[in-house]
Amino acid sequence: MHAFVIRGTRGTLPTCGPTFLRYGGDTTCFSLETPQGLLLIDAGTGLRHVTQELADRIDLPPITVLLTHLHMDHLVGLPSFGPLYSSHARIRFMADSNREDDWEEALLAFIRKPYWPVGLTDADATLEFGALAAPGEPMDIYGVRVAWCAVPHPQQCAAYRLEWNGGSVVVATDAEFDARQIPDSFVEFCRGAGHLIIDAHFTPSEIGQYAGWGHSTWEAGVAIAKAAEVGELLLTHHSPNRHDTDIDGIVEAARKTFPRTRGASTNMPLD
Ligand SMILES: [Zn+2]
Ligand SMILES: [Zn+2]
Repeated sequence: MHAFVIRGTRGTLPTCGPTFLRYGGDTTCFSLETPQGLLLIDAGTGLRHVTQELADRIDLPPITVLLTHLHMDHLVGLPSFGPLYSSHARIRFMADSNREDDWEEALLAFIRKPYWPVGLTDADATLEFGALAAPGEPMDIYGVRVAWCAVPHPQQCAAYRLEWNGGSVVVATDAEFDARQIPDSFVEFCRGAGHLIIDAHFTPSEIGQYAGWGHSTWEAGVAIAKAAEVGELLLTHHSPNRHDTDIDGIVEAARKTFPRTRGASTNMPLD
């Protein structure tokens, strides 16, 4: 069984059409299932694939949703997440309690009338809201060691490092790093990870125009992957304008410096 699966890789907006099929059009979501429970990172439209897989189960696993931040592309799949409407489901949301916004309140405001027919508080599932431990204090969730750190992004974003049974993945979606000035602390956070999944929303020719928008290029991903000696680099948060062949070109360019690079795609399992 593949424990960790990338469920959505598109940034900003979902896309569809024949030129977006290979990398997929769903926005950010990741899942990691262990015998103790189901860990999700973010709830973009890629969450619909998790709903489909859980629909055939008689017993739902306990579910924890780790939020990187609250931008809509990372939440928009949540209102139609099947387990919300099951009285057998237990769902815990977790985020950084030191964010400048009140994230619980923001989540409740996002899913309520008139934006959606059922408010989050009226959902059938048992819901919990929990604060992440301090960045330097890894948590154990369903047998997975979960660590996080803040990364540069408007209103701040959390990067997560998950380690389980020999596997390790860093998820750093929505992060603005300059390839020439990667902070040592972030390199150490990624050190030796089996897979680094990182924001490559902009190309090197675009980034000058979009400084401060909170996203990186493949060049930053390559710099971090090399410095941290990760096993594999996966580029994600693809711009909604980027066709499959455009992403192929980005991956090709990155492979010249870091050969173990792939473009993240919807429902891609990681060993
Ligand atoms: Zn995003
Ligand atoms: Zn964002």
